[in-house]
Amino acid sequence: MSPGAWEQLALSCGADKAAVIPGDRVVVHPSFREICEKNSCGQYGKCYMCPPFVGEIGDLMDRVRGFPYGLLYQTISSIEDSFDFEGMQAASRAHVQMSQRLLDAHRGRTKGETLHLASGACGLCESCAARSGEPCRFPDRALPSMESYGIDVYNTTKDTPLKYINGQNTVTHFGIVLYGEEDHG
Ligand code: SF4
Repeated sequence: MSPGAWEQLALSCGADKAAVIPGDRVVVHPSFREICEKNSCGQYGKCYMCPPFVGEIGDLMDRVRGFPYGLLYQTISSIEDSFDFEGMQAASRAHVQMSQRLLDAHRGRTKGETLHLASGACGLCESCAARSGEPCRFPDRALPSMESYGIDVYNTTKDTPLKYINGQNTVTHFGIVLYGEEDHG
């Protein structure tokens, strides 16, 4: 697929903006694992797609670095104000659903290996099976977050058409599909 076709695919699945970037523009840093360990989101050790379950940070960053291209995408949702918790949850659900549509769409078209990372905890189940020690219910659909793989989303979006912040009373979520030469052009 051409970069334009990749971007159109994300937009057709409900992304608000999308851009293909070279893999060496994806910024990674191990400090993102320390941020996860602080557990401000409450998902550390509670979701199979989050640390520590997701894997060792050095290995995951190496995996990210192994892809020459990435389709970066974002959803932008309106909320009433910075206390609109329900609106934030709705924005998160909308991003999960959009990412799942894109997962189906690119799986049907790609020839080589891909790595699809989304935003925050997996979000597919009301309560992750990790909380009860059962196996993941949807292992072929669950998407880890960009941060869990050490991606610095703020610096990765710099110099792209995707803004990190999109105005007052909005919530922005990101995702990325990393892919190889066989799926480019
Ligand atoms: S699909 Fe369900 S069980 Fe699996 S990681 Fe996601 S939330 Fe957890």
